[in-house]
Amino acid sequence: MQSTMQDVPLAVSRILEHGRKVHGQAQVTTWTGEAEPHRRTFAEIGDRAAQLAHALRDKLGVEPGSVLGTMMWNNAEHVEAYLAIPSMGAVLHTLNLRLPPEQLVWIVGHAADRVVLVNGTLLPLLAPLLPRLPSVEHVVVVGEGDRLALDSATVEVHDYEELLAEQPTRYEWPEIDERAGAALCYTSGTTGDPKGVLFSHRSIYLHAMHVNSAEAFGLGSADLALPVVPMFHVNAWGLPHACFMSGAGMLMTDRFLQPGPIAEMIEKVRPTLAAAVPTIWQGLLTELDATERDVSSLGRVVIGGSACPPSLMRAFKERYDITVVHAWGMTETSPLGTVSHAPPGVGEEEAWEYRFTQGRLPASVEVRLASPDGTFAPWDGRTAGELEVRGPWIAAAYYGGAGSTEPLRPLDKFSEDGWLRTGDVGTISPNGYLTLTDRAKDVIKSGGEWISSVELENHLMAHPAVAEAAVVAVPDEKWGERPLATVVLAEGAEATYPELREYLAERVARWQVPERWTVIPAVPKTSVGKFDKKVLRAQYADGALN
Ligand code: ADP
Repeated sequence: MQSTMQDVPLAVSRILEHGRKVHGQAQVTTWTGEAEPHRRTFAEIGDRAAQLAHALRDKLGVEPGSVLGTMMWNNAEHVEAYLAIPSMGAVLHTLNLRLPPEQLVWIVGHAADRVVLVNGTLLPLLAPLLPRLPSVEHVVVVGEGDRLALDSATVEVHDYEELLAEQPTRYEWPEIDERAGAALCYTSGTTGDPKGVLFSHRSIYLHAMHVNSAEAFGLGSADLALPVVPMFHVNAWGLPHACFMSGAGMLMTDRFLQPGPIAEMIEKVRPTLAAAVPTIWQGLLTELDATERDVSSLGRVVIGGSACPPSLMRAFKERYDITVVHAWGMTETSPLGTVSHAPPGVGEEEAWEYRFTQGRLPASVEVRLASPDGTFAPWDGRTAGELEVRGPWIAAAYYGGAGSTEPLRPLDKFSEDGWLRTGDVGTISPNGYLTLTDRAKDVIKSGGEWISSVELENHLMAHPAVAEAAVVAVPDEKWGERPLATVVLAEGAEATYPELREYLAERVARWQVPERWTVIPAVPKTSVGKFDKKVLRAQYADGALN
C-alpha cells in the first residue's frame, strides 16, 4: 500500500537553506592566528554559497555532475563550497592535502576534477602538480598566498572573492534525486590504494541527523563545535552538515593545527564539543599539562579514527573534567558507526568499561560478525568476528572513476549479499556495544593464537614513561609472527625494556608479551594522523631490531 506522505528528496540544498534562514545568526569562526578570529554568520554563508554557485555555473561552466576538488583547510569558505557545490548538482571532492604527491595526482585523475578550489597558503603544494593534472581546467584561489607559483600554469586562475563579487545571493537550487552523488572522498589508503566513496544527498542528510542525536554528538543551537578533524577526512565526520541543521556554531582551525593554537582557540572562543583522532588529543593533553589554559567550555570531546587509549580518556576526565566520547567509523560508513555513551543506571567503574568500547550501534547501522567458516558469531561480548555492516549511510561500492559506468565492488570489501566488510575484528555485547580487537591486518598471529596489537598499545600507553606505543607483527621462525613493540618515551622519562615487559606481563597473558622492543623518536603517522603501521611493518620486515 502506498503511503500518504510527501516525497521530499533529502538534499544538501535543504540543509543549506535551513541553516541560512532558521539559524542565520549562528556563526562560523575561523582562527586567523591574529588577535581576532574571523566570523561569518550562517546567513552570510548561505548568501555566499549562492554567489559561488552562480559564478561556478556562469563563469566556469560547472554543470550538474561536474566534479570539483577542494584543497582547503577547515574555514568558512570551505563550508561555502561544501554546501554550494552539491546543492547545484555538482560533486564536491575533498582532497587530502597531506597525501603524498603521487597519490594526489592519482586521485585527481581518477575523479577527473575540472576545478580545484585551493587556499592560497596551499599553492606551493598544488602548483607543482598541475602539469600532471590534465583534467583540471580552473583553479580558484581562496585567500592570501603567493600566486606567482601559478604563473606558468596552463589552467585558468580565478580569485574566489572576485568570482563571488556582484553575483546574486539567491540561487534556484535544482531538485536533485536524493540518491545522486553529492560528495566524494577517497580513503586515506592506510591499507592499500585510495578508494573513492561517493556519498549521496540522502546519505549525508540522514547521517547529519544522526550526528545531532543525543546518542551520537547531541548537538543543538546552544553548542559550538570544533572539528579539528579536517574537512577532507570523511566530511569532518559530518559536522558541517550537522551544524547547519542544528544551528550549532563552528570553530574552524584553518591551518593552525598544532596543540598550542588549538589550546588557545579553545580558551578564547569556548567551543562546547571538539572532534579529532587520538594523536591530536594526546598532543593537546601534553600541551595543557605544560601550559595552563581554561578549557572548561569543552563538555565533550569525540575521539575516533583509531582506538582511543583508555589512559587518555581518564586523563581528560580527571585532569580537565572533559568527557571523552569514543566513536568508531570509516570513510565507507560516512563515517559514524558506533558512539560510546554508557547506558543509564550503571556504576562509575562500569560506565568506564562502556566508554572504553568503540560504542553502541545506532538504529541505522546493522552489524554482523563474520567467522572464517562462513557463519556469524553471536552477540555475546566474547566471540570475535569480522565486522560487516549495512545501512542507509554505508557504502555499497566504490566510485569507478571518471567515464566508468560501473562502481567497483571488490569481494574482499563487499559480501555477496551487499554488506560492507570493514576489515575490523571485534565483539558485540548483547546490548549492542562494539569492542574492536584489531584491524584484521594488524592482528598478530602467533602460533595459531591471535594477539591484539591495540590491547598491548593501550596498556603500554598507560605507563607513565610512555608517550606513544605502536605494536606490529614481525616474522618469527618458530611462531610465524610475534609482536614488536615500538615505544616513544615521554619527555624526560626513562624506562628499561625488562621493566616495560614486566608491566605488560602483569596485564596480559605472558605469551602475548613482546620479546622485541625498540624506542623510536615518533610513531610514523598517516595523512590523517593515525599510527602508520604499514610503515613500521616495512621498516621491521626482517624481524630484526635497529
Ligand atoms: P583508512 O582505512 O584509510 O585509515 P578511514 O579513516 O576510513 O581510513 O579508517 C577507518 C578505520 O579506522 C576503521 O576501519 C578502523 O580500523 C579504524 N578505526 C576508526 N575508529 C576506530 C576506533 N574508535 N577504534 C579502533 N579503530 C578505529
